[in-house]
Amino acid sequence: MIPLSDKMAEPPSAYDQLTKHLGEIAIVGSIGSLLHWDQETGMPHAGGEWRAEQLAWIANRQHALLTHVRTRDLLEAAETEGNLTSDAMVNVQWARRDYDRATRLPAAFVEECARTESLAHESWKAARITSDFSIFAPMLHKLVDQARLRADYISEQAASPYDALLDLHEPGATTAEVSALFDTLTPQLSELVELATQKGSSLPTLPDGLEYPVEAQRRFNHVIAEAIGFDFGSGRIDTSTHPFCTRLGAMDHRLTTRYDTRDFTSSLYGVLHECGHGLYEQGLDAGSYGLPVGSAISLGIHESQSRLWENHVGRRLDFWEQWFPLAVDCFPGLLGSTPHELWQYANRVQRSFIRVEADEVTYDLHIILRFRLERALIEGDVEAKDIPGEWNTLFQQLFGQQIPNDSMGCLQDVHWSMGGFGYFSTYTQGNLNAAQLMQAARKAVVTLDQDLADGNYSSLLSWLRKHVHSQGMRHVPKELMQRATGEPTATTAYLRHLKQKLQFV
Ligand code: ZN
Repeated sequence: MIPLSDKMAEPPSAYDQLTKHLGEIAIVGSIGSLLHWDQETGMPHAGGEWRAEQLAWIANRQHALLTHVRTRDLLEAAETEGNLTSDAMVNVQWARRDYDRATRLPAAFVEECARTESLAHESWKAARITSDFSIFAPMLHKLVDQARLRADYISEQAASPYDALLDLHEPGATTAEVSALFDTLTPQLSELVELATQKGSSLPTLPDGLEYPVEAQRRFNHVIAEAIGFDFGSGRIDTSTHPFCTRLGAMDHRLTTRYDTRDFTSSLYGVLHECGHGLYEQGLDAGSYGLPVGSAISLGIHESQSRLWENHVGRRLDFWEQWFPLAVDCFPGLLGSTPHELWQYANRVQRSFIRVEADEVTYDLHIILRFRLERALIEGDVEAKDIPGEWNTLFQQLFGQQIPNDSMGCLQDVHWSMGGFGYFSTYTQGNLNAAQLMQAARKAVVTLDQDLADGNYSSLLSWLRKHVHSQGMRHVPKELMQRATGEPTATTAYLRHLKQKLQFV
């Protein structure tokens, strides 16, 4: 009799070998994320140069593994293997898309883009400090050319080169669809902003002259993050200049926030926002880490989760009623305030020049402006050198205000300097999705509003886990929204939410 161990082991299937290979790519990618997280949270300034070398090496290694002939061979073998489960098919299809995309871009072009982006980022910083667009203009021109070329390389049969760029961040989204949504939204948002800003002559404020120590803010935020379901056993919150959320492994989720000692709500809403991203990632299937079925589907869905917890949960009146005693315990100076005042402060509406400081109601007008301009850039209707004038005209139309200088206008965002075209619209898609998901959750869970008023967030989280988080990349965003809410992304639920909040219904 032959001992069991001497029997020939079954050779692993092509699909198993492919997932092992994708797992290796994920390991390399997560090492890069860890290096990036460290750079933003703790690395001494002088470590920057060596860190850039490390990150470049990692990016190169990851690209080399993805475009390696072994990926092609394993993909071809897995595709013809047969008997794949539906999840396995999802993994193979996305891996095929990533491979094709990565190999369609010539290596020299990828290298040239990286060089341009690094130089453009520096010239953008210099232009922003001095508010002198002419410093950045030639680089923007080059970035637009490269984005158009990239669209050309990766697009299959896109109606507009901008479609290919949108698809990088929001699979399946088209320029025509996004444009139609934004055209519906624009006049209605403008009207709401007008009504909201007419309503009161003075804006709600926090009590005068109070200081909110960072330690007390940390305690306040930690209790609330835990209450909404963020698992600190597999996550943590640190400090960085620009808040973000990153996943370093199946069970390792890092969030960051920043603190303003004169306004504790700034770090609170930052934490609620990043926690929304973190909850999504903690709800992905940990056993499929590094594979499409265990990954987030798009930026627009990701942003729906952050906006949902930040705005639909954290900006409710009963949220402030629930957490007011803890707020007073952490910040005793708030004793003379009321939950109603804090709620009003958290929902103040004011037109402003800077997107990242915008309130919930005016925010999307900032996005619509950027979407229109970058689409015109990519489709060749506007030239880079004309951006300041175009920006200011559009801002005047949408906000009725004159931009004082380019630092407060077209030079304020980092995205274009990093080649990030097609990204902005996902913020507004996130807002629309958040309202629509919330509406569907409310229909499905009849106790939802009472649960939230009681500080019981688990019924909402369970619904999101089932309909969004656990889905991974099984459905493109429009299908996911259709399945979860009964319709593709629309503006109705969002406008209703804003009107209700502003009491204009
Ligand atoms: Zn976000």
